[in-house]
Amino acid sequence: MAGIGIDGARLWDSLMAMAEIGATPGGGSGRLALTDLDRQARDLFVDWCEAAGCQVRIDRMGNIFARRAGTDDTLPPVMTGSHLDTQPLGGRFDGVYGVLAGLEVVRALNDAGVATRAPLDVVVWTDEEGARFKAGIMGSGVFAGLQDLEAALANPDGDGRTMGQELERIGYAGTAPLGTPVAAFLEAHIEQGPRLEAEGKTIGVVLGGQGQRCFRVTVTGAEGHAGTLPMDRRRDALLGAARMIDAVNLVAFRHQPQPVITVGRLEVRPNSPNTVPGQAVFTIDSRHPDDHALAVVAEDLRGVCARVAADAGLDLDIEATTERGAVAFDGELVADLRAAAERLGLAQRDIYSGAGHDACNLVGVAPTAMIFVPCEGGISHNEAENAKPEDLAAGCEVLLQVLVARAGVAG
Ligand SMILES: [Zn+2]
Repeated sequence: MAGIGIDGARLWDSLMAMAEIGATPGGGSGRLALTDLDRQARDLFVDWCEAAGCQVRIDRMGNIFARRAGTDDTLPPVMTGSHLDTQPLGGRFDGVYGVLAGLEVVRALNDAGVATRAPLDVVVWTDEEGARFKAGIMGSGVFAGLQDLEAALANPDGDGRTMGQELERIGYAGTAPLGTPVAAFLEAHIEQGPRLEAEGKTIGVVLGGQGQRCFRVTVTGAEGHAGTLPMDRRRDALLGAARMIDAVNLVAFRHQPQPVITVGRLEVRPNSPNTVPGQAVFTIDSRHPDDHALAVVAEDLRGVCARVAADAGLDLDIEATTERGAVAFDGELVADLRAAAERLGLAQRDIYSGAGHDACNLVGVAPTAMIFVPCEGGISHNEAENAKPEDLAAGCEVLLQVLVARAGVAG
């Protein structure tokens, strides 16, 4: 693919220009989905794409598809993209990078005068962040048939305005069909974790996303007077929960490769300083890239809680609240990404995504994979989110190579 190369400075300038829409005092961006700021970001993207010769279409979820035509437009498109919405105090790169890296590929192909056989679509998925409408990864989920369109459009924000109403209001309630065929989907994204930077690697070839199992654990003892009930007669539910939480944390370290396990909520009844707690309810969030390993972890979690409960004479109820399977990306695309990084002389490693992404929704639609690039300190969902221009350019170069190989060079 001699003669085609991305322009890293142009990519950076586009990122910085987009970051000005909803710029926050701390140097980040705040563009909640389907707000006026989201509309401005969408409008800017559409303007840029049309200036680059793309045809823009919008579907009923407000997903934007900018198409660079191929020489055979009967072929399904090779697709790349991500999201432009952010957290309320978000960064300049999460999502935006994947969208603008796709645009940079289009611009680079234009500069080089290269035509591809299959068309190339750069997509902006609606409401990835879930910060306003409380669901998240919505646009790609509806496109992939994983979520119902009407239910998604009826989804209200905190003020009772629905996604459907807000799409109409900002002018992005389109008519393009959902679920159309896609030849392959690639998403470039900052890692949002510390691994690549810590190991001095430029490219993370993402093998898939973690499965997730969540539980609500209810520990029941008996309330009693803090002054009169002797220690050896107590059934202290909070003490039991505390021992369980410690044991749950240790489970993570017993399993290799290590799952991530979090207890993030604890409720105590009656929550009074001078009553022995009669009930404690806490949550467990466990994640691992392998479903079988996660199932083994779940059994271990149940076991350690049961042992503590038995020792302390407490009743225990563990309810499974969420179960999401791990996502495996396409083996051939993953191999193509590794080979492209190798050819470009970029330090790389295989990696799993700790966060959910639009690409995770696309695996049932098309061969799908992701490219990660380092971000400073692994910090994300934060105004301080930062990435190096040269790393962003390198990830975009890998993206270009694999997209063009998939779309095929014409002539
Ligand atoms: Zn993102």
